[in-house]
Formats: sequence, structure tokens, C-alpha cells
Amino acid sequence: MVFESLSEKLQNALGKLKGRGKLTEKDVDLAMREVKLALLEADVNFKVVKKFIKDVKQRAIGSEVMESLTPGQQVVKIVNEELTSLMGEKESKLEFSPTPPTIVLMCGLQGAGKTTTAGKLANLLKKQNKRPLLVACDVYRPAAIKQLQVVGEKVDVPVFSMGDKNDPVDIAKAAVEHGKRNGNDLIIIDTAGRLHIDENLMDELEGIKNGVNPNEILLVVDSMTGQDAVTVAETFNDRLGITGVVLTKLDGDARGGAALSIRSVTGKPIKYVGMGEKLDELRAFHPDRMASRILG
Ligand code: GDP
Repeated sequence: MVFESLSEKLQNALGKLKGRGKLTEKDVDLAMREVKLALLEADVNFKVVKKFIKDVKQRAIGSEVMESLTPGQQVVKIVNEELTSLMGEKESKLEFSPTPPTIVLMCGLQGAGKTTTAGKLANLLKKQNKRPLLVACDVYRPAAIKQLQVVGEKVDVPVFSMGDKNDPVDIAKAAVEHGKRNGNDLIIIDTAGRLHIDENLMDELEGIKNGVNPNEILLVVDSMTGQDAVTVAETFNDRLGITGVVLTKLDGDARGGAALSIRSVTGKPIKYVGMGEKLDELRAFHPDRMASRILG
């Protein structure tokens, strides 16, 4: 399970403080050193770790905590609050357009889980009474269009496609018009990915963005790629101004660093997490629940 090792190490480090009646600054320092190592091993971004430890220490070493009846528990509480704040404080919901349709542009590297996530999102929001339309804008791999069609069929959501002979920007624009005519209040655009970030991909995504003016630009990143996921998020955000992140494959044994770093590094929230290959395995991301899960 994701965070298993981090969770164990944090609980171990903080457990030493918990039962104590009195704490010295040195006790806190030692525990924080262990916390720092655990976070680094979990692949949390170095700068993020540094700031996190500094923030926790600043709060923990104050006399209010040290002289309280349960200093250890107070420190654990502070770590919990800072972990939560690191991941964005509270759930960040999808922003719907006041004038439908809401347009969601999905982007990300190949294999991150874009197409699957597009289907999952359509499935989830359909259950919330939206009328989604999935749009196939990956014109480079014929299999990609087929894959989206299969996903659409499974979740019973229509898929708009113009084959692979058209420009993605034109397809996206035509899809929005089609959606408006057909009463779709949610348009989810699946785009092409590449194995690595490249200029052509960014140009194309920027073209689609300028062409349809999406309400949300969701970057799909694979949590298994650790620090790379954070770099990818930074690059896409600088270039496109993403509005949120979907972190996939959190059901795997990723070390979890991406989940803990992305918000802090990019300033953009994780909106959803992928918890499996099935099309109902997408969840809203709750920083507070995640922090509590990590700290046990
Ligand atoms: P794309 O290239 O970005 O469109 O990626 P796909 O949607 O084709 O997904 C790539 C692979 O990751 C597929 O085998 C998916 O089933 C798998 N996948 C996507 N999301 C998740 C997830 O949350 N958990 C797991 N375990 N697998 C996922």
C-alpha cells in the first residue's frame, strides 16, 4: 500500500514522544530528524521536507506545547496539521462553469492514466447527474481513440471522435459545439501524451486550451514515478497553467512523495486520486483524511 513505509516510520518516530510527560527541545529535535529522513525516503521533495520540518519545529518548541500536560500528543497533532496543510488543507472540488458546458482538458504523459481517468471522471460525475461527453483528441495512436470508445461504452457515456485525420484543436472545438447541441453539460477532452515532455506536445495542448478555453485543466500524473511526477507537474503548470492534478495508481506501492510534494511545489491542488484500474476507482482527494491515514 502507498505510504506504508512512511507511515510506519513516522508512527515509530512520533510514538517515542507520545507517552512522555515532559519533552525537551532535544527530544523534539531527535524525533524530527527521524521524520525528516522518513519523508526523504518516501521521495518527498527536498525543499518541501526542509520547510515542513522547520514549520513543525517552530510550533512544537514553543512553551505552550512543551509545558502542556501532553506535549508528545501536541507534537503529533502539529505534524498532522502540517501534513494536511502541505497537501492543501481541504478538498478542492472541480469548478463547474456557471454557463454549461463545463470543459475539462485532461493532459499528461503517456501511460499516466489519462484515458482511464477521463472515463472514471465521466463515470463519477454522471452519477452526480451531469451529462458528460468524452472527446478523443489523441490523433497519433489509432488505438487511443478505440480505447476511449471502449471506456465510454463501459461507463455508458458518449464519445466524440473525428478519427485521426483532423487537427486536435479542430476536434476539440467541434466537440464543444456538438456537446452544446446535444445537451452535454460536461465535456471531457482526452489528449495525446508523450513518453517525455516535449515542445510539440505543449504547443498542441496550448492550442487546445486557447481554442476551447477550458474551465479545468487537469494534469494526470502517475504516483509511481515519484519525484518525476513533481517535475512533470511543475513543467505542465508553468506552460499551461493547470488547475489541478489527478494522482493515479495510488493503489500501488508508490512511496507517496508525489502526493506530499505536488501542492507545495506547484501551488495547484490534487483534486482526485486513482485507486485502481476499474472505472469506479476514482476518489476525491481529502488532505486531512490522507494525513490521518499516514499518521495512523
Ligand atoms: P494514458 O496513456 O495516460 O491514457 O494512460 P491509460 O489510461 O491508458 O493508463 C495506463 C495504464 O495505467 C492502464 O493499464 C491503466 O489501467 C492503468 N491505470 C490508470 N489509472 C490507474 C490507477 O489508478 N491504478 C492502477 N492500478 N492502474 C491504473
